[in-house]
Amino acid sequence: MALFPAAHSWAGEPRLPANFDVSEIAPGNYVHYGSFDERSPDNLGDNANIGFIVGEKCVLAVDAGGSLAVGRALRQAIRRITPLPVCYIVLTHVHPDHFFGAAAFLDDHPQFIAHDNYPAQLAARSRSYLNSLQRDLGAAAAGSEIVWPTLLVGQRMELDLGGRTVVVQAWPPAHTDDDLTVFDAATRTLWLSDLLFVGHTPVIDGTITGFLAVMKDLRAMAVDHYVPGHGRSDLPWPKALDAQQRYLTVILNETRAAIRNRRTIQQATDEVGLSEAGNWAAFDLFHRRNVTAAYAELEWE
Ligand SMILES: [Zn+2]
Repeated sequence: MALFPAAHSWAGEPRLPANFDVSEIAPGNYVHYGSFDERSPDNLGDNANIGFIVGEKCVLAVDAGGSLAVGRALRQAIRRITPLPVCYIVLTHVHPDHFFGAAAFLDDHPQFIAHDNYPAQLAARSRSYLNSLQRDLGAAAAGSEIVWPTLLVGQRMELDLGGRTVVVQAWPPAHTDDDLTVFDAATRTLWLSDLLFVGHTPVIDGTITGFLAVMKDLRAMAVDHYVPGHGRSDLPWPKALDAQQRYLTVILNETRAAIRNRRTIQQATDEVGLSEAGNWAAFDLFHRRNVTAAYAELEWE
């Protein structure tokens, strides 16, 4: 479904993000770290961490970025490193900062892999996501479109990239109800997407209790390298999980207390979790809606 004219119908080729660099954080695993700034015509929706894994036979990309321009920059970055075909794009979940670049890979005819729950979520949200992309990027949104998955994962799936096995794991509802992780067994590199935020306020669009339960399972995994959905990979594993776990636990406990004390949802959003304000980027943008989501989930316990 293309809502906007194809990019080439506009004057010349679309602008690509400036300084689109990738780092090899483990052999064959290349990460591009997105910006914490709000989506804008300046950053072209380059907000999520995305990247790729190179096998002997082909390449798997983990997400494609927030616009066609970002997807094209990722594709160019892959081409700088290898001529091998791109055989898989993993769409880690239904948030637009991760998937709107997927159209850049259509001519490669990869499998677009997503969680079983992804198509229903995308169907419900695609119109508003396209509208808000157009609102935020204007002409730079041209060519960004919805790409539907071609392969769904209900539990786990092993993919052979040639000399390298990658495990795609579907999780119960947590950050969203359609979260996937990607694990490169050769280097024990775990791509968590938005099951882990580092430095940027975590977002609850699934369930807070589910998010904490999934984090417990993630913590138990033997991991040598990891990639969060937002923020850097500098802290050691599993210490990298601590701040997000503390944040979610504070919201969980204080929201439960607010409900017990018959505080309204409005009062709860004014009061819960304020001790965390100094710890996270974009706190004002996301924290109150996290408390709202937690309250709606927990008031019927
Ligand atoms: Zn997300």
